[in-house]
Amino acid sequence: MSSLLIRNVKHLITCDGEDKVLDGVNIYCENGLIKNIGTEIHEADEVINGEDMICFPGFINTHHHLYQVFTRNLPQVQHKELFDWLLILYEIWKKLDEDTVYLSSKAGMAELMKNGCTTTSDHHYVFPLNRGDLIGAQIAAADALGMRTNFTRGSMDLSKKDGGLPPDTVVQTVDGILKDSTALVEKYHDRSFQAMHRIALAPCSPFSVSDTLLRESAILARELGVRLHTHLAETKDEEDYTLEKYGMRPLEYMQSLGWVGSDVWYAHGIHFNSEELKVLAETGTGVAHCPTSNMNLSSGVARVPEMLELGIPVGLGVDGAASNNGTNLLEEIRVGYLLHRLNSADNDVTAYQMLKLATIGGARVLGREKEIGSIEVGKCADILLMNVNRLDLVGAYYDPKSILATVGLKGYMDYTIINGKVTVREGELVGIEEKQLIADANKEVVRFLQD
Ligand code: ZN
Repeated sequence: MSSLLIRNVKHLITCDGEDKVLDGVNIYCENGLIKNIGTEIHEADEVINGEDMICFPGFINTHHHLYQVFTRNLPQVQHKELFDWLLILYEIWKKLDEDTVYLSSKAGMAELMKNGCTTTSDHHYVFPLNRGDLIGAQIAAADALGMRTNFTRGSMDLSKKDGGLPPDTVVQTVDGILKDSTALVEKYHDRSFQAMHRIALAPCSPFSVSDTLLRESAILARELGVRLHTHLAETKDEEDYTLEKYGMRPLEYMQSLGWVGSDVWYAHGIHFNSEELKVLAETGTGVAHCPTSNMNLSSGVARVPEMLELGIPVGLGVDGAASNNGTNLLEEIRVGYLLHRLNSADNDVTAYQMLKLATIGGARVLGREKEIGSIEVGKCADILLMNVNRLDLVGAYYDPKSILATVGLKGYMDYTIINGKVTVREGELVGIEEKQLIADANKEVVRFLQD
C-alpha cells in the first residue's frame, strides 16, 4: 500500500458540485485514491506541508497532438490559416516514426505535467506506412512519466488524390484503420475505475476522411464501448467544404453519420450556430475549447458562454503544439479567460469557470467525472499544489478560486500528484532526467526536420 498526506492546506479549491473552498484541511490518499479530507492526521509514506499552498484538482487536457511538439514556431506557417498551414506541415509530418512520436510525446507530456496537467488526451492521426506502434510509443512515454491518458486512435483515408488535404503516403484504408483501432482498444483500453490509459476512436476531420470511415468508426466505437472524437466547426473553410461536397453544414453532416451523443466530443466547435448548439446540449455532445490555437490560426472565438448556459459539456484543450506553440493548460486558463473578456464584458465565463473547464469540465468531456476533475473523497488523487510565496503572486491570493485565470502562474506548479504519486516535486520532474530528455528530444528534432 502507498499513502500520501498533504497537511494543513492553505486553501483547497475542490471544484466539487458545491464549489467548496476549504482552509487548513489535510488530504489523505491511499493507493492513488483520496480517502479523507478534514482535520484528522494519518500516518503516511510521504507527508507534504501544505501551509503555504493553494491546492487545485489536476488539469485535464481534452485535445492535443503531441507529435507537433517537434514542429513549433516554424517560420513557414506562422502567418497561415488552417488549410494552408496543414498543407505545408503534412510534408514534414509524413516522416514521423516511433522514435519521433515517443520523444515528442514524452517532452510534451513532461511540459504539461510541470504546468499542472494530470490527464491528457491526444489525437494522433498521422500513420505513415510501416512505422511501428505509434500509440504504443505514446503509452510507453506516459508510463515513464506517470501520466494518466485518454489517447485517441486518429485516422485519415482521404488524400489529395481523393480531394482531401493530406499526402497519399499518410492515409490508410478504412478496413486497415478499423482493424488497427480494434487491436489498440483491446491492448490499451483499461475500463477499470482509476484507469491510467483509455483509448477513443478519432478520424481526423471531415476534410481528411471519408463518410464511410466516419460512419464505420462510430459503429465500431459503440461496439467496443469507447468514445468518439474529431475536429469540428474549426473554420469557415470546413463549413464551405461540407456544404459543397455533402450539401450539409458540418454538424448536420456528422449527425447523419451517427456522430452526436454523450460519447462524442469535438475539438474547437467555433462555428456552430444557435440551432446546432441546441443539438449539442440535447445530445450531451462535448466540446474541447482551445483558445490559444483558435487565436493563433485566426479561426474565431468559440461561443463558450452560450455553451455553458445550455449545459453543453466543455473542457479545455491546448491543441497541437504546432498551432499553439506551447503545451500548457495554465496558459489556456488565462488566455481563454482574457479572450472571453475581450469578446464580451457581460458573460459567465468567470475566472473560476475557466478553472472548472480545465478540471471538472474536462472530466465530463472525457466521461470520467466520477473519477477525476475535483478533489473529493473516493476520487483519484490527481492533485496540484502551488506555493503562494512567489513574487508574481504577492498581494494576489485574495480570491484563490480565480487566481489562475486572473493573475496566472508564470512558473511551474510546485507539486503535480497523479494517482497518488508525486510526479513533480518543487517544480522538478520526479524520476526523469530533464536535461537528458531535452537533449534527446532536440537531437531527434534535428534528425526529423532534416530533408
Ligand atoms: Zn487539433
